[in-house]
Amino acid sequence: MNPESAESLKSKLKSGSSQSKVFDLLSDQKWHCRNCEGKKVASNQYAGGGGIQGLERGNRSGRPGLVIETKREICQVCQKITIWDRWTGETREANASANLPPKLVKRILEIYNYIDVIENRQRLPHELVIDHRFPMERWGKSEPNHDVNMSETEIRNKFQLLKKDSSGNHNLLKSRSCEKCIETGNRGTPLGLEFWYFGNEKWPDNIPQSGSEAEEGCVGCGWYNFEAWRTALNATLKQVESQNFLE
Ligand SMILES: [Zn+2]
Ligand SMILES: [Zn+2]
Repeated sequence: MNPESAESLKSKLKSGSSQSKVFDLLSDQKWHCRNCEGKKVASNQYAGGGGIQGLERGNRSGRPGLVIETKREICQVCQKITIWDRWTGETREANASANLPPKLVKRILEIYNYIDVIENRQRLPHELVIDHRFPMERWGKSEPNHDVNMSETEIRNKFQLLKKDSSGNHNLLKSRSCEKCIETGNRGTPLGLEFWYFGNEKWPDNIPQSGSEAEEGCVGCGWYNFEAWRTALNATLKQVESQNFLE
């Protein structure tokens, strides 16, 4: 995604709001200590929805999310190890759940029992990202409709849960992979594994690059449906095993 200028981003934040103040601090793209610098700017809201989390998420009216890195390091001012954040200067599509009605978010989390599909771990809601299987990068102009009362089958067809914690953000990894796929025509390799449960590495020639018909081109990529990908990978391994046994 093309980076959006700091001025343009700033204009999409309510002036005087704590998000806007936190953005002012981070806009120099340098590391800032949460403890001594962050608290001054937005006491209790610095890391949460009124600050860093909210800026990372973006919103439903056209403000993209910021790509923010986090580390732990000694702060000379605080004289202890603290958490630091830095805006990389990049932006990304607003986090999908920013565009979903809260009622639907709750239904999706409950249907998947708060378990992220890659590590298979139950997590707190703030460590989960609701991922559109069909990546936003390929939607084209229009955001799909999200009927709060869509069926469980429809929910399972459309969404999966990915993790986002201090050690990594699988949704961000997926975005990078999708951007690369759009650029090169080579589909994703989650965890570096060169396996596709349908088709192969190449984006199919007969499928458009974006718009609703592009979704077919994603089928088979592990980032599109990690569960199906893992099941198919296990089946393939079993098959290889039984062939070796017969030989
Ligand atoms: Zn500090
Ligand atoms: Zn959506």
